[in-house]
Order: sequence, then C-alpha cells, then structure tokens
Amino acid sequence: MSALLWLRRDLRRLDLPALGAARDAAEGDLTVAFVLDPRLWESAGVVRRAWLAASVLAAVERYDGRLLLRVGDPRVVLPALVDQRDLTSVHVSAETTPYGRARDAAVEEALSADDVAFVRTGSPYAVGPGQVRNGSGDPYQVFTPFARAWREHGWPDPAPDVRSLDLVDPGRGNEQRHAESMLREAVDACPLELPTAGEEAARRRWHTFLGERLGNYDHDRDRPAVAGTTALSPYLKVGAIHPRTMLADLAEAQGTGADRLRDELAWREFYADVLFHHPRSAWSDLKRLDLTYDLAADAAHLVEAWRTGRTGFPIVDAGMRQLAATGWMHNRVRMITASFLTKDLHVWWPVGARHFLDLLLDGDLASNNHGWQWVAGTGTDAAPYFRVFNPVTQGLRFDPEGDYVRRWVPELADLPGKAAHEPWKHGTPPGYPERIVDHAAERREALSRYEAARR
Ligand code: FAD
Repeated sequence: MSALLWLRRDLRRLDLPALGAARDAAEGDLTVAFVLDPRLWESAGVVRRAWLAASVLAAVERYDGRLLLRVGDPRVVLPALVDQRDLTSVHVSAETTPYGRARDAAVEEALSADDVAFVRTGSPYAVGPGQVRNGSGDPYQVFTPFARAWREHGWPDPAPDVRSLDLVDPGRGNEQRHAESMLREAVDACPLELPTAGEEAARRRWHTFLGERLGNYDHDRDRPAVAGTTALSPYLKVGAIHPRTMLADLAEAQGTGADRLRDELAWREFYADVLFHHPRSAWSDLKRLDLTYDLAADAAHLVEAWRTGRTGFPIVDAGMRQLAATGWMHNRVRMITASFLTKDLHVWWPVGARHFLDLLLDGDLASNNHGWQWVAGTGTDAAPYFRVFNPVTQGLRFDPEGDYVRRWVPELADLPGKAAHEPWKHGTPPGYPERIVDHAAERREALSRYEAARR
C-alpha cells in the first residue's frame, strides 16, 4: 500500500491529523507533496505569493527535504502522480473555501475512476465549517451566539506526534527543480522583508507570546503601538500552526487574556463558517443593501490617497503604510482604514478587500472579505448602519500617545503626544497632506445613503 499526503493550507508536521491518517494507510512508503496551483498562484499578489513560497520552502526542510513539489492544475497533477507511483490513497486536510471544495471534488472524482481513495482528515479549523448549527439546524448569522455554540461544541485535542515516517525521496528531477526555482524566485521578488517562515518559527512566536504577552492581551490587543497580539495570522493562514494547538495551550492558561484570545480565534472560525454556507458572499454583499456607491474610477484620486497612506488622517495613513511596508496591519487599524474607504469615500468594499488581499501576508478570503463586509455594513454585524468610525477619535483613543502614527508617518515626528492625530491644529508639517475629505460631512452622507437604502 502506498499513500500520498497532499499539503495545502497545512504546511506543518505537528498536530496534523491527515499525516497520521496517511502514515497508517501507507503501511510503508509515504509521499508528501505540495502542488503549486497556477490559478491560486497568479491570483495572489507578489507579497502573499512570496510568503506562501517561503512557507513551502520551510516545509521542505521540515520534511527533511522529502517534500515532492509540482506545478500545475491539481486536477491533472494528482491523477498523474497516482499513476506514476501506484498510490492507493490520497490524504488531505479538508478544504472549505468555494474554490478549494470544487477543486477537491473534481480531484476526488478523477481518482475514484482508478479506485483511489481521497481521504479528508481534519481541516484548517478547530471545528470544521458547517458543524456549528443552532437548535433548528441552521447556520448562525451573528458572531456572539455562534461563539457560544462553538465553545459548547468543543474540538479534539491536538493530534499525536507522528514519528518513524518512511518518506519517499522526491529526487531532483526537472519538475522538482522547476517548482523549487519558482518558489525561490517568488521569495526573491518580494519587495519587503518577510518574517521567518515555517512551523518552528510559528511555535517559537506562540511560546514567546504565551510567556510574555498573554497576561496583557485583553488590554494591549487594541493598542496598535504595542506588540500585544500574537502576530500569528500569517502562520495560521498557511497552517504552520493549527488553532487547535493554540486552544489546547489556552485551556491550561488562566485569565481574561486567554478568554479573549479564544474569542478572536472564534472570529476566524465564524467567518469560515459564513463563507462555507454562503460561498457567493466572497465577492458580493452577504446582506443586500441597495446602497449607492461612488465608483472607484470616479473616486480614483481619493482611493489612491487611501492606498498610499496620504489621506491627511494620521491613523488611516499609518495603517496603510504599515500594510505596504510589512504585509500586516493591526486589527483595530484594519477596521479604521476599511471604514474610511467605505464610509468616508463611499467606495464599495470589494475594492478595498482586493487591495488588502494583494498585500497582506495573512490575506484570507473568509477573514478578509467578511472583515470588510462587517465594517461596510453588508455582512454579519447586527446593527451596522450607524457605525462610522471617526478616524480622529479612534486614533486618540487607541493610540493615545501618538506613537503608532509617528512610527509609520515620519512627517509627524515632531508633533508630540496626541498632537500627532490632529496635525491641522498645529500647522500641518511640510510634506504631509491636508485632509482629503471632511469627515463630519461624509459621515452624514454615509448615514443618509444607509437610510435611503433601508427605506
Ligand atoms: P491576534 O489578536 O493575535 O488573534 C489571533 C488570531 O485570531 C489571528 O491570527 C486570527 O487568526 C484570529 N483573529 C483575530 N481577530 C480576528 C478577526 N477579527 N477576524 C478573523 N480572525 C481573527 N485576518 C486574517 O487572518 N486574514 C485577513 O485577510 C484579514 N483581513 C481583515 C480585514 C479587515 C477589514 C478586518 C477588519 C480584519 C481582518 N482580519 C484578517 C482579522 C484580523 O485583523 C487579523 O486576524 C489580526 O489582525 C491578525 O493579527 P494577530 O495574528 O496578531 O491577531
């Protein structure tokens, strides 16, 4: 019997149930493979591609150089590998996105023609999307009851370590070398410095967080100037660490920090669940609101000012510059910048969601696009239409010393403390733009558009 483990959003060795299932099925030789799918590869921006590439290369090392690499449509590559290697089963962690599910169904069908089993074990989530339902068997539409039911549902313990693996050596043939060089080129093309990729780096980061920051997480998580969060989202995205591993450690920890972080992980699971039940909501409004938007083309100069961090609103500009410089942005600032695009500039959320997905290392269809819809008022927020973030009061509240905005907007370096949030009151420094809109007027405009849509 010979089996193949096909890695996708699970680039790790520990707490990987599909690895145990594949090893048991293999009864000997096990091939572990990653397929670089041109469709996903080309639709990712340069930065996300680089992060994926760095993460796959780290997985090659994690599997002692024995990770088979191929480039091509998995619907073609997998059946070909099955033929070449005389495999009896292919193992995966279940995929839950619209594209991933359709692709896996097609691969499964192709393999079944040769009597090869396609076995799904586990998923990138603690509780697989689709499993948490209300008393009537329906999916949840709102976070708080979902999170309660999710906690009650519970999740398995981390999977046992799989030792004594007999991994097939992929060799150094043309296909292996071609895939490897594509990955290395993608890393080299990255315009910014990537964090260290891979499972070991993810676990180090997690253990440092547990030891040094979990105690203050409840307070610090909303402070963009402080490194108070896990910064694990890029690793969760590629599966270098699994949320189950984190939840098991949190169960041992005490305090509000652990409870709060469990809730944040629940948001990730909630959005995956929403996308699972409503695949069309990836790129269209979950809740149809007949809102009037300004066309991104008509508002091009405003959208460009937003993208490049030159809106004249310090917290918005700091966030957009942090994103461009690091491929990551603090959660509070993601909300503020998303609110600014949708409610101050009146631009439809997919324009911003696309930009974020191009630049974020953690760019994830479910968390990103539903994060955007939550802010825009078309998603899962229960009472969203009156929520318009004021970029000045948000800045003053969550960055009270102004450290975050001064770090990312050097033009404001000489404005001390809170003054950095309102440069126009102190004589706007040279090189920093005036505000591109009047927030109070645009807030009224946003509310009147929402009122009209509701009527
Ligand atoms: P921590 O505070 O350490 O939280 C731990 C983990 O919990 C995160 O890594 C993440 O997996 C999950 N989490 C925390 N908050 C949320 C949330 N609000 N929604 C979903 N999951 C959450 N997250 C992504 O992973 N990818 C995205 O593409 C993404 N786009 C977003 C776009 C917008 C407009 C908004 C408002 C939020 C978005 N988020 C996204 C959610 C959140 O901003 C990030 O997960 C978080 O900032 C990552 O930092 P961290 O790992 O330090 O988070």
